[in-house]
Amino acid sequence: MTAVNGKGSAISLPISIRNVTKTYGTFTALDNVSLEIASGEFITLLGPSGSGKTTLLMVLAGFIRPASGEVRFGDRDVSLLPPHKRDVGMVFQNYALFPHMTVAGNVGYPLRLRGVAKSEIADRVQKVLALVQLGELGTRNIDQLSGGQRQRVALARAIVFEPRILLMDEPLSALDKKLREQMQIEVRHLHQRLGMTTVYVTHDQREALTMSDRVAVIDKGRFHQIGSPRDVYERPESRFIAEFIGESHLVAVSMRGGTAHYRDRPLQLAEPPRHPSGQQFLVMRPEKLKLLTGGEDGLNVFEGTAREIVYQGESTLLYVDLPDDVEVAIRQPATSVGPALPAPGTPVRLGLPAGDTMLVPAERAP
Ligand code: ATP
Repeated sequence: MTAVNGKGSAISLPISIRNVTKTYGTFTALDNVSLEIASGEFITLLGPSGSGKTTLLMVLAGFIRPASGEVRFGDRDVSLLPPHKRDVGMVFQNYALFPHMTVAGNVGYPLRLRGVAKSEIADRVQKVLALVQLGELGTRNIDQLSGGQRQRVALARAIVFEPRILLMDEPLSALDKKLREQMQIEVRHLHQRLGMTTVYVTHDQREALTMSDRVAVIDKGRFHQIGSPRDVYERPESRFIAEFIGESHLVAVSMRGGTAHYRDRPLQLAEPPRHPSGQQFLVMRPEKLKLLTGGEDGLNVFEGTAREIVYQGESTLLYVDLPDDVEVAIRQPATSVGPALPAPGTPVRLGLPAGDTMLVPAERAP
């Protein structure tokens, strides 16, 4: 996807991250990471706290210089360029707006820095404010805005000079859930309209799935899986990914003669294990399990005891104890059809369709 700016030229650039390592003393924050990001792509770096997301974004912005490796924007090696020469838009969580300036003053700042003529600045600021739905608020002071409006000002300031690359570090984390979800869609639409290559950092897996063309899951300074949102959710490559993305319970299985068994019963699988050596785990997602009352065709069956029912509004979770101290959960949508949930303490039979039965290894194969 390559978008075009007002002057009719392409505005996005591919990013190439090649064998980047960053150490702090003896600690390795980024461990030889490589990633190719296509022109116009929206990619999210997703990982737990301390995994290296911000460090990698700072390397792209030029605030952190890696110990080794290379960063290229298009065919240009930018590894040694300082931040202000990289021409990237940035929205960082603590990248504060200027409180003494108006909304328009803040948004116009990058243009003034670049020596753009006053009349053109006013015009471009107005256009970009309209784009983030703040057209009426140019003369307001920053302290007269809500949290969501401030985030939009920050976004407008990052895109007003039409950067080919936009870097965002948890830009929505300070907002409440409803506003955050609304802004996720707005940022996504903005990206679709403008088309700059975007690298977005979050530790919120739902946000990553909602917004991205691709998600790069990072932990301990390494990528563990890079793929479309559907890929990382439906086809996790390791136990870490299955547990980190979405809700899941992992059940150990034994491999005998190339077949996976749960307590001596062979399992029907969606596909053969992709990394069959070593301990395998069955990924049990609550929304994929079915409460069995009769037939079990095409299902892997698990018998246990209902333990607890948790009402969550749009759905209800039933926790079930399987033998050997294994806990799973099944999610029932809030509809009046379907079997009633069994009372705690009563026996339960759960079915997992073969098509949803997938195995993951403890670790991703090297
Ligand atoms: P969070 O979601 O909590 O912001 P993150 O994935 O963005 O986490 P980074 O900020 O990239 O994590 O940090 C990666 C690792 O590097 C962390 O373990 C952190 O403690 C360490 N680290 C970051 N900056 C420094 C520093 N200046 N000196 C020493 N260690 C650092």
